[in-house]
Amino acid sequence: LAKENRTGIQQYQLGMSKSLSRKMLLEQYLHKAIEQNELYLEYQPIFDVFAKKAIGLEALLRWKHPILGSIPPVEFIQIAEESDLIIKLSNWVLSAVCSQRRLWLDKDFSSFYISINVPARQIHQDDFIESIKRSLEQYNLPPELLKIEITERTAMTNVEKTLKTMRELQEYGVDIILDDFGIGYSSISYLVQYPFSTIKIDKSFIQGLGNKSQKSVCRALVAMGRNLGMNVVAEGVEEIDQYHYLCSIGCHKIQGYYFSRPTSVDLVEKFF
Ligand code: C2E
Ligand code: CA
Ligand code: CA
Ligand code: CA
Repeated sequence: LAKENRTGIQQYQLGMSKSLSRKMLLEQYLHKAIEQNELYLEYQPIFDVFAKKAIGLEALLRWKHPILGSIPPVEFIQIAEESDLIIKLSNWVLSAVCSQRRLWLDKDFSSFYISINVPARQIHQDDFIESIKRSLEQYNLPPELLKIEITERTAMTNVEKTLKTMRELQEYGVDIILDDFGIGYSSISYLVQYPFSTIKIDKSFIQGLGNKSQKSVCRALVAMGRNLGMNVVAEGVEEIDQYHYLCSIGCHKIQGYYFSRPTSVDLVEKFF
């Protein structure tokens, strides 16, 4: 190998082992993040244009490590999803959300739901429903105040089990939202196959709304959801033009920086 090539390879390997060791380090730290109190939640409102108010909040997990600082959720969630760590994190989120919702209920903030993100493969775990019910009962919350956003990074497997769990949750009163609709593995057949109450159109479609054909795609997605009798939420709405366009095509549940960034408990209260 020529000299420059060799150093190229060495740098490549160095880069690889760097990202590998960051990953291993993060995984190791993440195991202790709960006990060390490094996790917290931010909440982002979902607005209903007709009701002219926030109808719900999405809980978004945050991790601030004392040395490494804030780690982006996409980075640590992926690491967690590769192991059983995600189950521990989801359970932490679930109880933190229920406990927070209880506090808000006691303050008479009664009407909005909070949604939590759960990877599809966790839905068909045996104790999933039990932990949902247990948390709602522990805080004495009506099930309607909790919704579950299913994120889909791999094709949904275990169809029978997933269906059974979803139906049971729906009957119990916990709605299920299909997140990031239109990208990845979340295919159109899911809409027919699984009992989703709501679809969330992925933000990449909203960000592309400057483009004419992207507009048509977005309009078709909204129409499809509505024709199937589902609620349709658009996420990642940042601009007034995007907001107006979505209203004009019948999508009036809106989430995004245009209304509010994800914020702390105190700041989000002003929306109620
Ligand atoms: P997601 O579920 O699609 O959440 C929406 C993401 O879009 C959030 O990123 C939010 O901060 C961001 N966002 C909201 N409005 C706008 C906007 O107007 N413009 C743009 N550009 N972005 C906007 P975040 O908080 O970084 O989370 C990233 C992803 O990490 C989430 O995507 C979700 O898949 C995952 N995640 C976050 N919290 C949890 C959790 O508690 N459990 C699980 N399993 N996944 C989580
Ligand atoms: Ca989500
Ligand atoms: Ca999403
Ligand atoms: Ca996403």
